[in-house]
Amino acid sequence: MRLLIGETDVPFINALRRTILAEVPCMAIDEVVIIENSSILQDEIIAHRLGLAPLKTDLDSYNLPEECSCKSEFGCNLCRVSLTLDAEAEKGTRTVYTGELISENPDITPVSDKIPIVKLAKEQKLKLEAYARLGKGKNHAKWQPVSMCTYKYFPQIKINNKQCDACGKCVELCPRKVLIKAGDKIEIRDLMACTLCQDCIDACPKNPPAIEVSWKEDTFIFNIESTGVLPPERIMKEAVKILNKQLKEFISQVKVKKSEKD
Ligand code: SF4
Ligand code: SF4
Ligand SMILES: [Zn+2]
Repeated sequence: MRLLIGETDVPFINALRRTILAEVPCMAIDEVVIIENSSILQDEIIAHRLGLAPLKTDLDSYNLPEECSCKSEFGCNLCRVSLTLDAEAEKGTRTVYTGELISENPDITPVSDKIPIVKLAKEQKLKLEAYARLGKGKNHAKWQPVSMCTYKYFPQIKINNKQCDACGKCVELCPRKVLIKAGDKIEIRDLMACTLCQDCIDACPKNPPAIEVSWKEDTFIFNIESTGVLPPERIMKEAVKILNKQLKEFISQVKVKKSEKD
């Protein structure tokens, strides 16, 4: 999801980015009981791989373990989902994929069925029970709902048509194909793609250059790439909600102390 956010500044937009990365919860496998593993991979490696497989998340039906009323180390069905795997290579070497995990809740399943877990040789087995929980990216990257979350300033490009002779050098050199030659003029094809590298200015043979690249100080292009655990719109809404709550908490704790001299 790509958003254009205006009338703000870097501290706010970066706080939003960090909230998405570190505070918006999602589901991930957190504990694995290995019943049988005759594969070549150690139990720990398999558990680690399972933890990193993104799981579809339902934020409305599940609690964070630390906020759940059960207060139990093992969890309850409001803060834990169990998934089982029972795989065997009966006929010959084969790969076990995330699609073979059977979840007790059909809404909490791997985002992709095609993530390889382990390769089994003939007659090798892998049998396990895994427990998924909600968690936050600040505790482990497996609980990060996004694979990418970035922002950049909104670019502004000006071409001085009186000075520009449409030689096309800037069009040729731009690595993002932002510019296009239209007859005897240079036009902007895709402003959002500009990375502000300023190579086009260096390429311009005119002195001073006929092209100017700058950015709007208060407007940002914000990119969110979900891992598939939650829709990007929901990730953004959750982040705004969490940030609001944290700011309210902060304000309630700030006490103004008057100095004795006043
Ligand atoms: S600043 Fe870089 S990306 Fe933007 S138009 Fe110029 S060459 Fe292309
Ligand atoms: S390099 Fe300079 S003169 Fe040539 S087309 Fe681009 S802006 Fe115009
Ligand atoms: Zn619980």
